[in-house]
Amino acid sequence: MARNVGPARTSSRKTATDRSVRPVVYGFETLAIHAGQDPDPRTGAVVPPIYQTSTFAQDAVGSPRSGYEYARTANPTRDALQECLAALEGGRRGLAFASGLAAEDTLLRAVAKPGDHVLIPNDAYGGTYRLFSKVTQRWGLEWTAVNLSNVDAVRAALRPQTTVIWVETPTNPLLNVVDIGAIAGVAHDHGALLVVDNTFASPYLQQPLAHGADVVVHSTTKYVGGHSDVVGGALIVRDEELGEKLAFHQNAMGAVAGPFDAWLTLRGVRTLGVRMDRHCDNAERIVEFLTRHPKVSKVFYPGLPDHPGHETAAKQMRRFGGMVSFRAAGGPEAAIEICNRARLFTLGESLGGVESLIEHPARMTHASAAGSPLEVPADLVRLSVGIETIDDLVADLEQALR
Ligand SMILES: *Cc1c(COP(=O)(O)O)cnc(C)c1O
Repeated sequence: MARNVGPARTSSRKTATDRSVRPVVYGFETLAIHAGQDPDPRTGAVVPPIYQTSTFAQDAVGSPRSGYEYARTANPTRDALQECLAALEGGRRGLAFASGLAAEDTLLRAVAKPGDHVLIPNDAYGGTYRLFSKVTQRWGLEWTAVNLSNVDAVRAALRPQTTVIWVETPTNPLLNVVDIGAIAGVAHDHGALLVVDNTFASPYLQQPLAHGADVVVHSTTKYVGGHSDVVGGALIVRDEELGEKLAFHQNAMGAVAGPFDAWLTLRGVRTLGVRMDRHCDNAERIVEFLTRHPKVSKVFYPGLPDHPGHETAAKQMRRFGGMVSFRAAGGPEAAIEICNRARLFTLGESLGGVESLIEHPARMTHASAAGSPLEVPADLVRLSVGIETIDDLVADLEQALR
C-alpha cells in the first residue's frame, strides 16, 4: 500500500497496512491511523516527518535519489496525507490542495472546458457559488443552480453540454439531502461526471464513491482537519486515469498543500472517527433541546424523522453529522441577538472543528448569495456543534435564547 515516506524505500520489510501480508480489509479508524503512515523507514518515527523542503537531491542527471524531485510535484508529507485520504474515501488516488476552493478550481480546469455546462446545488456553499458565478463563468463555464433533491428537476436542467453535476449533501446551511446514487444514475446516463462535496459529512459518515460518485471534494479545513488550525482541500477519485489527469493539473496549477499544512491535517485525520461520533452525539442532544424550545420555529437536521431527506440520509450516511441550523421565531433580529449572546459557541465562520461555532448565514457565510437563487432565510442560525461537554453547550444555548 505504501508509496511511503522516507528515503529507504527499498526495504522489503512488510508494513502494517500492506495488504499483501495480511489480506484483511481494515476498518475506518485503523486506516485513519495507519494508511500512508507506516513508521519512517530510516528512523522508525511513528509520525510521518514534515519534509519542509522544496527540492530533493539527485544522484546523477535524471536519477533522483528518492523518486522525489521538486515539492510542487510531490512531497512525502503530502503523499502521506493523500494516501490516507484516498483510503478513507475508498478511492485509488487522493490529492491535497492549499484550500477546498483550490481543489475545486483545479478540478474544474481538469474536467471541464469553456462552453461546458455544470449543474450546481441551489444552496451551494457560498464560496463554491462565487467560484462558479464570478470566476469560472468568465472563463466560459456555464452553470445552472437546481434543487438537487429533486431528481426530475435535475434531469430537466441537463443540456447537451452538461459535463458535470456538482452535489453537496448535506447542504450548507439548510442541510438538504441529495440521493447520491440517484444523481449518479442521471449523470452517468448523460455521460457527465458526478462530483460530491463531502465536507459536511466527512468520509466517516458518508463515502460518495461507493454510491457512484466520480470525484469527492473536501474542504479539509473542516471536519477532516478538525481543529480549526489549518486551511486545506482534497480531491479523491477511484479511476486511475482521472487521478492522473488531476495530478497533472495539481502540478501544473500549483495550488498544493504545503508540508506543514499536510502534516497538521494528517494529525487531525487520525481522530476523525471518534470526533465525528462525539459531534453527532452532541448535535442530537442539541436538536432535542431546540425542537422543544418556544423561541425556535424550525430545526434543520437530517436526523429528524420529519426532515424531507431523512430516509435518503439514513440510507447513505452512518449518522447525521454535527451541523444544525434553526430559524428564530422572533425573526432576523432575534437570530442576530442569539448569535451575539452565545458565549461558549464562538461567533465565527467555518465549521467542523472541536470547538462549537455559531453564525448568522445571511449576514456572514452566505452574504455573497444575497439576491441570488442561493439566498438563505434571514432568521436562520447555523451551529457547528463541537465536542465540548454537552451540558455546557445546552446551557449556553439556553442563555442565548432567553
Ligand atoms: C469551507 C467549504 C468549502 C471551501 O473550502 P476552503 O477550505 O474554505 O477553501 C467548500 N465546500 C464546503 C461545503 C465548505 O464548507
